Amino acid sequence: MKNLDRALWEALDRRNPKRFPRFRRKGEGDSLRYPDPLQIRLDLSARDKDGRIVLPRIFLPKVGWVKVRLSRQIAGEIKNTTVTCKAGRWAVSIQTETDVPEPERRTSPEIGLDLGVVSFATLSDGTRLHPDPAILSAMKRAEDRLRWEQRKLSRKCRKGPKSRNFAQQKLRVARAHEKLSDMRRDFFQKTSTAMSETQAVVYIEDLKIRNMTRSARGTKDAPGKNVRQKSGLNRSILSQGWGTFLSLLESKLARRGGRLVRVDPRNTSRTCAACGHVSPENRPDQATFRCVVCDHADHADVNAAKNILRAGHARCACSEAKTSESAA
Ligand SMILES: [Zn+2]
Repeated sequence: MKNLDRALWEALDRRNPKRFPRFRRKGEGDSLRYPDPLQIRLDLSARDKDGRIVLPRIFLPKVGWVKVRLSRQIAGEIKNTTVTCKAGRWAVSIQTETDVPEPERRTSPEIGLDLGVVSFATLSDGTRLHPDPAILSAMKRAEDRLRWEQRKLSRKCRKGPKSRNFAQQKLRVARAHEKLSDMRRDFFQKTSTAMSETQAVVYIEDLKIRNMTRSARGTKDAPGKNVRQKSGLNRSILSQGWGTFLSLLESKLARRGGRLVRVDPRNTSRTCAACGHVSPENRPDQATFRCVVCDHADHADVNAAKNILRAGHARCACSEAKTSESAA
């Protein structure tokens, strides 16, 4: 009822409405929540009868003691406990409350970030954020595996006395999905943590506007053979995670006193970062940037990231000027 209440309020929010809640199906995002922390007990130093330390365990009402593997230390006062089952694996999330000191506001260093198709993202200092080749090929294998399991699923009988095969295969597909999304999440978590530690303000393109203005970017001006292949790989494996990555980055930056600033993406890929000349001819192909006026050459994504940094600077300077005016 609590979840439904929240879903309805969020769906009916005029300013930023979310999807209207759908009826639930058995087996789809199954979870149960224990809202009363007094019912939960956590035993971190459980021992067997010979006195050896065994896995920590948690007491769940109606279930009893369950062994758990902790993914991190539990700090603070336990508030909510939620048990979920995803692709046959059970997880328990423990929500806690602690006092966190307000982080000191940081305004430097600053950097521009361009979300790309060939590289996952490029920074204005020239760094490319991309999974290691080994990890990328593991992701590719996981994706092939997923396709294979999905194809097998499509050949299984859905109904009738033999539908057990279908159910089993469905679980295999779900596991393959999980595996791939775990790899993706791992990359996003590590990359966003590293960035939030080294940067204070990160400027990015506003994705909502970007989708409208630059949707044809990879295909329209990509004559290279490998580019298309690579971009296809990337699109399926990583690009669907841009939103996830950015929200992780945003919250991690905020926790350390920095922030994520969205800027208008217009012309960021066609402007020369050295002289400011705007022309589509500056981009002879997907990967290179060469200014037709000043002959400045750079990698196209690095050039775009530099423009994003500059646009962000301009925007921040503007809003600061406005606030000081109104203060005066
Ligand atoms: Zn130029």
